[in-house]
Amino acid sequence: MALTGKVALITGSTSGIGLSIARELVKHNVHVVLNGFGSMQEIASLVTELSSHGKGKAVHCAADLTKEKDIVELIRFTKDTFGQIDILINNAGMQHVSPIDTFPVEKWDQILSLNLTAAFHTMRLVIPIMRENKFGRIINIASTHGIVGSVGKSAYVASKHAILGLTKVVALETATENITCNAVCPGFVLTPLVEAQIKDKMVKSGRTFEEESEFFVSDKQPSKKFVPGNEIAGACLYLLSDHSSEVRGAQLVIDGGWTIQ
Ligand code: NAD
Repeated sequence: MALTGKVALITGSTSGIGLSIARELVKHNVHVVLNGFGSMQEIASLVTELSSHGKGKAVHCAADLTKEKDIVELIRFTKDTFGQIDILINNAGMQHVSPIDTFPVEKWDQILSLNLTAAFHTMRLVIPIMRENKFGRIINIASTHGIVGSVGKSAYVASKHAILGLTKVVALETATENITCNAVCPGFVLTPLVEAQIKDKMVKSGRTFEEESEFFVSDKQPSKKFVPGNEIAGACLYLLSDHSSEVRGAQLVIDGGWTIQ
């Protein structure tokens, strides 16, 4: 499928994995709506940078995806700006690490709201637009934590297991249409979300960032290497290509061997 001229909404794309996906898509002449937080200046230069890669134009909308009314506005903004929505990548997510008996209740609510409920809202609002166009590709960025658990990550693991279930239901409800819904499950990618966890561990261990990073990734991934962000973007490209029209409800795992053990 030629991606030129398609319109993609990528949530949480001002940093990390979402930004890697946006960079890949604009190279394929896709128009991209960036979403997420950051300084106005940094976001303005990202928009300029992304709009200079190919024919794809980038714009930004700072919707807070823990708020339903912001999500409604984000979808309206995307449709009004580009006239259609062909690709939805539910990527925005957050983490908090704490044992369940001391897990802050407001963090639980925030994580479930961003990592799971936001994707429910974006999908329920975007699918009718995709149906009108008789075309749609939805990718939910889940995690290895959608497949296995880890100590201290109750909300994150619950949200990521749930998004895989939600992916299957949406894939079934669109199974006879030219709309697919799939999940990508990354292992550790060195982004601000993971850097924060490494820095927390450094405080207790006294190790340097490099030492702690090596320990952190090797503890889970037999490869002993972080997954490069552009490999997650590459998996998305496959799910957007002509070679995956009957890939429905799949979980594409890219994790350096973490979950095969
Ligand atoms: P990141 O912290 O680098 O990026 C998160 C993005 O979400 C940022 O753009 C941020 O501004 C945005 N965001 C945060 N709160 C938001 C809100 N309320 N509304 C709108 N946007 C918001 O994180 P990342 O590591 O790139 O993670 C992206 C996705 O990949 C997440 O769903 C995460 O769970 C998943 N993931 C990450 C890893 C990893 O190792 N980094 C592994 C597996 C899955």
